[in-house]
Amino acid sequence: MFMKPAFAILFLAIACLGLPVNGGTNMTVTVRLLNEQGVLTAPQAVPVVVRTEAEWKQRLTPEQYRVTRRQGTEPPFCGVFHDHKKPGRYDCVCCGLPLFDASAKFDSGTGWPSFFQPVAPENVATRTDQSHGMDRTEILCARCHAHLGHVFEDGPKPTGLRYCLNSASLVFVPSGKPAK
Ligand SMILES: [Zn+2]
Repeated sequence: MFMKPAFAILFLAIACLGLPVNGGTNMTVTVRLLNEQGVLTAPQAVPVVVRTEAEWKQRLTPEQYRVTRRQGTEPPFCGVFHDHKKPGRYDCVCCGLPLFDASAKFDSGTGWPSFFQPVAPENVATRTDQSHGMDRTEILCARCHAHLGHVFEDGPKPTGLRYCLNSASLVFVPSGKPAK
């Protein structure tokens, strides 16, 4: 039995949402941004950030480009944020979308910056990654599809998740408030 056209289009749309976008499109994605007070807004539809490879190369360092746009991984214990404990927020290095808060950071002992949850589930997309003979869940910036790292189910409470990040995918924004 064939799918009705409406279902086929819906299916196609869902399938496309899970893939990086390289062509020029006017697709939108629902994420949470920060308001002027630095508080997360309600989920809202914003345009997907799309740039050419040449534009990304111009905006990023070679290491940032290799990790975020080429699914690279930095060596453990080498990234600038693996032992970084200052209060603040970690945003996408490519598009500035708020991704993780320092309050959710923990020492996983892996040598990569690790968090038990993102600032908002909407802001981090996931995709199955079967490269290198492993079955992993890749995490990406929901707005620009920058490769961030992977998420594993061996994290601490309260989520039990370990978002394993590359420092090169992140830019740190200090909170300016004293740590509690
Ligand atoms: Zn981004």
